[in-house]
Amino acid sequence: TGTLYLVPTPIGNLSDFSPRAVDILRGVDLIAAEDTRNTQKLLTHFTIDTRQISFHEHNTQARIPVLLARLQQGESIAQVSDAGMPAISDPGQELVAACVAADIPVVALPGPNAGMTALIASGLVTQPFAFIGFLPRKSQEQKKFLTEYAQLPMTTIYYESPMRIAKTLARFAEVVGGERKIVVAREVTKKFESYIRGTVAAVAAWVADNSPKGEMVIILAPPAAQAETVTWSGEAVRAAVQDRVA
Ligand code: SAM
Repeated sequence: TGTLYLVPTPIGNLSDFSPRAVDILRGVDLIAAEDTRNTQKLLTHFTIDTRQISFHEHNTQARIPVLLARLQQGESIAQVSDAGMPAISDPGQELVAACVAADIPVVALPGPNAGMTALIASGLVTQPFAFIGFLPRKSQEQKKFLTEYAQLPMTTIYYESPMRIAKTLARFAEVVGGERKIVVAREVTKKFESYIRGTVAAVAAWVADNSPKGEMVIILAPPAAQAETVTWSGEAVRAAVQDRVA
């Protein structure tokens, strides 16, 4: 049988595409892409001429038997999404589950992922954390969902669109109060990358006033009792640096 390769693609900076990812995409028989036109730009840039087949949320169930049959006949397939890791808030997990069930080898490459990248730069506690992804859009559902996840004893990671970020942060304030720490990571790996860090109240107010654009990750600190493991507060930094220079 062939192998299914899960190949992460850049989330904004083409230099993040690994040489191994290029080799794999050149070497496989077929690339299963979320949006073939979008992926074609990447393939052209890296002079990869492997054939593509579309594989997205609307044809997942129909495509899986087609891809499994090809894998069972010995073809190798690479799966890519529009950006970042396949199967993370993107299609992929069902294909992986089907391959595992069919005893087809699955090989994942490490690479770009918006949530993990934002987490490690957030300055918040990195362990334990939970990746939550997109919130439900309907207001009642969103509130119920957030009430459940924001109380977990760990840092939680969400994806949100710039259109809804202000409303969503207001919802965070409603559910967890204004005092908890939160970070909005914007345009990670891109030219206008920035991190908005502060309390839920302060970050929500800044976002409401400035209407930031671009792709965003929200990182919410755990409830107070769990947040204590990060010891470097502003005060601690000032005191320690002063000791050094004095
Ligand atoms: N598979 C991707 C990954 O591994 O991160 C996520 C795909 S999901 C459809 C797209 C969402 O990821 C965006 O709405 C945004 O919340 C987040 N995202 C993707 N690229 C980003 C970037 N460069 N900076 C900040 N957030 C990003």
